[in-house]
Parts: sequence; structure tokens; C-alpha cells
Amino acid sequence: MFSKNRINPTILEVNLSALVSNFNYFRSILNPSTRIICVVKANAYGMGAYRLSKTLQNNGVSALAVAYIGEGIFLREKGIYLPIFVMNVEKYSLHEIFKYNLSPCIYDKNILDLIIIEARKQNILNYPIHLKIDTGMHRLGFCSECIPSLINILKNQNNVFVQSVFSHLAATNNPIFDDFTNKQIKLFICLSKQLEQSLKYSFQRHILNSVGIERFPNAQFDMVRLGIGLYGIYTTTLCKKIAEKTKYSIKPVAVLKARILQIKKLKKGETVGYNCNGVLNRNSYIACISIGYADGLNRRFSNQCGSVFIHGHSCHIIGDICMDTCMVDITDIKNIEVMEGDEVEIFGENIMIESLAKKLQTVPYEVLTSVSNTVKRVYVEN
Ligand SMILES: *Cc1c(COP(=O)(O)O)cnc(C)c1O
Repeated sequence: MFSKNRINPTILEVNLSALVSNFNYFRSILNPSTRIICVVKANAYGMGAYRLSKTLQNNGVSALAVAYIGEGIFLREKGIYLPIFVMNVEKYSLHEIFKYNLSPCIYDKNILDLIIIEARKQNILNYPIHLKIDTGMHRLGFCSECIPSLINILKNQNNVFVQSVFSHLAATNNPIFDDFTNKQIKLFICLSKQLEQSLKYSFQRHILNSVGIERFPNAQFDMVRLGIGLYGIYTTTLCKKIAEKTKYSIKPVAVLKARILQIKKLKKGETVGYNCNGVLNRNSYIACISIGYADGLNRRFSNQCGSVFIHGHSCHIIGDICMDTCMVDITDIKNIEVMEGDEVEIFGENIMIESLAKKLQTVPYEVLTSVSNTVKRVYVEN
């Protein structure tokens, strides 16, 4: 009982050793000269940006990447000193880029103009920036037609210099789109050459995300941007196969755990929960557990659509999921002596985030980042 977290029945247990082991796995399949940018946006995919960044910093990571400037400032204020890419820079926050020594990813001419003006104002010379090129994702980035005017701006100043040029692939995990992906890579090579020839200096290049690392290893260039794989999630079955063949494989980093609050013996025909939606078709033992939709347990798992894992067994969710609790059917495991206070796995070793995502017709990224702030992050090492 003493090992239990007394005041937080519901926790996201984050295994830092698994994180490091996953990092080393990717390190081992990359060329030795390829540098790894670890993507810790969205609070490190929900697991806690500071603790994970600190662990990565202690284990030889080259750089980190976040989405918004506030995330970068947060890490700096906590003492993270690695380069931090800010991928979705806005024109309103350019002053802070310099103040916190962040690495801005520039995707727009207007922002480029403004960051040069800001650098000039502060007498800053040769500040490293990163250019994002749109090769087909059509999210952020300079289009091919914008490259000449971009070069023009860059050549007429010495306040910033291009440290890297990158692009993002839209469909690395789907072999159906491999022609599309290869076209993106070709266009990236072509546009970055054009930039290099005009700027007359060299810069680093990067285009791969996690799945890209496994599926398009020839497009490593100088760096890769590793996100979901680091957190032990497979986004294609192919990756899983590759991992199984090698002596390394990625391990799940996060386990979402709740506890049994109360167990009830109910009769056939009685109902469970709001709107009397959980109708019992047999005499049942029903456990109320400490997690609900406010904690990030998707309400669409109500009424047997989802299950949880208790003492080695899968147990259906009965009735509608409530805000901070839900009820599960433990009738089949009653003889195993389930008790109030026992641990319940929502996802982790036994229930794969990948399969939950599939059930919800979404991506594992969303399942992970949906674990809300009501759930305490607890860090373990083994
Ligand atoms: C989120 C993100 C990544 C990481 O992608 P994963 O699929 O999680 O590896 C890489 N690059 C950019 C630009 C991103 O936005």
C-alpha cells in the first residue's frame, strides 16, 4: 500500500528509462552523423515537457523542438540549455526569440522581414534561423515560387543566417503515397540546392519524422525530427516488424492508471450510471474506477465500447462514462479477489494506445495528448 500514490488515484506513469531506450534505438538505426531533434511539443505529447527534455538533455540529444514560443520559454526558464526549435513562430513574439535564445523556424516572408528588423534593432548579427519549405504538406512553409524573393531578402542583410532548411512529409506512414513522398523529397533537394547556391554558404537539412526515419532512411540528410517513436508508439505495422527483427525495439513510455474506488454486487436487470444506459444482463460485480472523460478517457468508450485491464484481465466499461469516474464489469474476475484500491490500467503494457486510437478512429497522438491536467504525471526509472 505504501508504494501507492496516496492523493492521486489516477496517474500517467512515465518511464524515463523507456524514453532513453527508445532514443537509443533510433540512434542505432540512423547514420552515426545524423543528429536527432527530439520533438517535445504539446507538453512532450502529454507526458511532461520539462522532465522529458531534461532526461533527453542528459542523454546526448542534439536539439529539441516545440510548437509555440511559450513552450520554449517554459523550458528555458526551467534550465534547459539545448537548442530549441520553435516551429510555429508568430510575428508577435520575435523579441522573445532572442531573449530566450530560441531557434525560430521561419515559414513566411513577412516574419522573416520582421525578425531581421528586430535583430537589427538589438544589434544582433548572424542569428541562426531555420527555413521551412512547403514541398506538398501545404501547412506552413515557403512555396517554391517564394524562394527567389526569400533569397533576395536574405542576401541583403547580415543579421540572421540560415542554419538549416527543412520540410515536413505529409504521408510517410502510408505506402500508397510513397510516390508523393518521394516527390516531396526530390523537391526538397532541388529547392535547398537552389537556396545553397544563391546564399553561397551551406546549411543543414532535415525532412524526416519518426515513421520517415524507418521508411525513408535515405532521406536522413543532416538531422531528423523524432516525435512519436520516442514515446514508444508504432504508427505503422511496418515499423513494428522492423523493430521485432532488430535487437532493439521501442517500448511504451506512458501507462495511464486508475484505481478501483468501490465494488458493488448488482442483480440482473438493474442499470448502471446516467440515463440507466448500462443494463445488466446477468448478476454482476461492478467496480467504479477513478477516471472519467474529464481525465481524458474518451466518452465514446462508454457502454462496452472500451475496456480496462485489472489483474491481468480485460473488463468492459458499463454504462456512460462520467466526468471523473466510470464503471467496469469485474464479474468474470471476482474469484481473483479484486479489491477496492486495486490498480486499473487504461492504457500501457496491456492495452495499446494504438488499438484505442483505432477504436476511436483517430491517431495515437490524439489519445496521448488527451490525457488531461487532472491526471498527475509520475516519473519512474527502472
Ligand atoms: C510533430 C512534428 C514532427 C514529429 O512527428 P512524429 O510523427 O511525432 O515523429 C516532426 N516535424 C514537424 C514539423 C512536426 O510538426
